Amino acid sequence: MGDGGSIFSARWVLVDAFHSRRDCAIYVRDGKIGEIAPLQDLTSRFPAAQIHIGENVAILPGFVNAHHHCFGVNLVNQGISDDLLEPWIIATAGAADISSKISTEYAALRLLKNGVTAVVDACTGGETAALAEEKIRDKIAIYTGLGISCAIAPGERWQNRIVHQSGQDQTVLAQLPEHLRERLERQHISRARLNPAEYLDLVLRLAEEYASAETSDVWFGPTAPHWASPQLLKEIACAVRERGLRMQTHAEESLLQHLTAGRPDFLNPVAELAKIGLLNENLSLAHMVWADDNVLEYVAGMGAHVVCNPSSNLRLRSGIARAWKMKRFGINLALGMDGTSLADDDDMFAEMRLARNLYWSADPIEPHLTAQDVFDMATMGGARLMGMDQCIGSLNAGKRANFSIVSLDRIQGPWLTESVDPIELLVSSAKTSDIESVYVGGSLAVSQGKVCNKDEQNVLQNINEEMQRAADQRLSAEDYAIVKSTLLRWYDNWLTQSAQHR
Ligand SMILES: [Zn+2]
Repeated sequence: MGDGGSIFSARWVLVDAFHSRRDCAIYVRDGKIGEIAPLQDLTSRFPAAQIHIGENVAILPGFVNAHHHCFGVNLVNQGISDDLLEPWIIATAGAADISSKISTEYAALRLLKNGVTAVVDACTGGETAALAEEKIRDKIAIYTGLGISCAIAPGERWQNRIVHQSGQDQTVLAQLPEHLRERLERQHISRARLNPAEYLDLVLRLAEEYASAETSDVWFGPTAPHWASPQLLKEIACAVRERGLRMQTHAEESLLQHLTAGRPDFLNPVAELAKIGLLNENLSLAHMVWADDNVLEYVAGMGAHVVCNPSSNLRLRSGIARAWKMKRFGINLALGMDGTSLADDDDMFAEMRLARNLYWSADPIEPHLTAQDVFDMATMGGARLMGMDQCIGSLNAGKRANFSIVSLDRIQGPWLTESVDPIELLVSSAKTSDIESVYVGGSLAVSQGKVCNKDEQNVLQNINEEMQRAADQRLSAEDYAIVKSTLLRWYDNWLTQSAQHR
């Protein structure tokens, strides 16, 4: 880009979910959006600008994927099938142990090609504090190197690793044949992981270091409240309060998580977080599929954010979040792909489409989620959740010039009415294959499906080589069936017994 900046014209410029401009252009300079005006106005005022004419395209803000995991090669490709969340988590411990650097590179390239220019990466910590630090630094370097804004939210399952109820892991393991008992003990219970004190220290240190960075952040990301000790959560709450840090955690994801809460020692994840002062505008809750009205109202009142993950909730048999209720209560909603998008292709258009079609209610007094609502979730909602809404999430002047140029050739078909709403059209029909190019900070990052400043073949080659070398740690189909039936039988008995004692 020369000194004079650049001008991009389009049939539509979608400034945000609720404002689009027809036959307009954007002026970009120094990596930021300058202004939006008709092409002729901009070309006469900025004669030195490089002009990019888009005849039949829409320009839209970069997407924010507000909850993501880097699983490396898709789990289905590794022979780990979708299933109910609880047995699925047990199975995922058998996924190939490839380097976090390579799986993050692969994930980042896929996201960027799909127009995602900001991500919350909820990763596991690691075996030791030193390895966890290296991992977090690598992730930030990879994302920011590609121009992607990021928040890294490391976490672990420090307790209740086999079933959600506290102190019950060994009683469940005791019901398994010896070889499986040993396997689960090794993969889930005794697996090396940084301890809570090291974790606290590391996140505090890195969060402070990256505090002034505009496009990267380090957050607390304890995997879920019931997987962390009350003591650790209290210490996180202290740190969050004193230093204004952010946190993301899974909550109310599955029915079993919901049913096994409601005990005197664990009311529900939101109540537990509220009790220690973590329920506030710096908190984002992933999933919230099973949260009841009281909980949602409480979340809204305290200003916490919710990130919905519709694909993942279908694939892991968690259910359908009541996002229309969340909207009615006024919760800021974001959209996440959870590393588990419906076709494992990280297509945010498909995710918005799914959200739009799932998140409706037959109750006439409930608001439906409109195309604008889900587009807002995938852009500004995520930016607000990340605390980056001043610099990303829309194409307003002064923000980072993160945008995609989407071809309308396929979408318009043989006929397109003049009065069509472009957001409605894109949410209903666009696919990532319609993306012509992606710009981050005003620079061309993806052109015709190719990432510009990274050798994608090399990343694919690396991941392929690591997969060939990785040891097979998966449960056999037979063993998985035993683990699953034991687990579900145990939950069933526990629920029956606890219902009798109420
Ligand atoms: Zn998740």
